[in-house]
Amino acid sequence: MRHAETVTFGGSGLDRGAAFRGDQARLEVFFQTARILPVWRGKPLVQDDMRLGWVSSSSAVLAHAGPAVFLGFDAEDPIFACDISDWSPEAGAEAVEQGFLDTSVQRHPALEPEMAFVELRSVMAALSPRDAELAATGKAILQWHRSHGFCSACGAATMMTEGGWQRRCPACGTSHFPRTDPVVIMLVTHGNRVLLGRNSVWPEGMFSLLAGFIEPGETLEAAVRREVQEEAGVPVGAVRYLASQPWPFPASLMFGCAGEALDDQITIDRNELEDACWVTREEMVAVMAGRHPRIRPARRGAIAHFLIANWLADRLD
Ligand SMILES: [Zn+2]
Repeated sequence: MRHAETVTFGGSGLDRGAAFRGDQARLEVFFQTARILPVWRGKPLVQDDMRLGWVSSSSAVLAHAGPAVFLGFDAEDPIFACDISDWSPEAGAEAVEQGFLDTSVQRHPALEPEMAFVELRSVMAALSPRDAELAATGKAILQWHRSHGFCSACGAATMMTEGGWQRRCPACGTSHFPRTDPVVIMLVTHGNRVLLGRNSVWPEGMFSLLAGFIEPGETLEAAVRREVQEEAGVPVGAVRYLASQPWPFPASLMFGCAGEALDDQITIDRNELEDACWVTREEMVAVMAGRHPRIRPARRGAIAHFLIANWLADRLD
């Protein structure tokens, strides 16, 4: 797909500076003049004008920071991300909304009032490609460190190394690498219609493309066929890869694929889906414009929205 990398989080050609990751002394020098992205419980710091919020190494915000992760260089500036999840907002501000999307924001007393910690999904489509890549990378890798503090081989506490791109176990010597979970998401068509489904926890009326984790030993194509068969009972024939999207919620890589349904009979697995249906191109235009009486589209910025928009525009080649 020619436009594949224009998807949100599609990449900005960031220089990740991997050659410096093993040079702790250089990284410490870089850190002194770096731009640093604080991330609080998975939420990056964002300014009101939809640019990322940066702090310097002397900022009071970093009082609660864990070890910094080196993200690379942007406009020659070294860039790091720091997890400040141990910071507790003032009473009342901490209430993080439960549900599909956390719309609460947290403001740190040491920062300008136009800076706040916000849910990345609520701003992802408004960020520049560079800021989106930095935010997705920082969020994903800091979450990995938070949830992988112990060695999976022997159980001992592990230490961050390589500028944050590995963890090493001092007890048994095993190196651990950041985890990415592959997911297929598929634009399954039957003639003029696309297959949509909805999960019961989604906002009312929202439908999207079917998706599922790829299992060990499985190809992209096999995962597409298995997931669609399991969830909607629809057999799929030819499958082709279209585009990918890093999806740091918490650590997925979405593989967008197109699949041709061999039959249009739907049998829903109610454990997986609340509803599934075929939607014509004409109806889908109304869905995407917010004019459909029953169906609401996937969120802008999500690869589902991107694939459907390109299908409607006949730009999947
Ligand atoms: Zn170990």
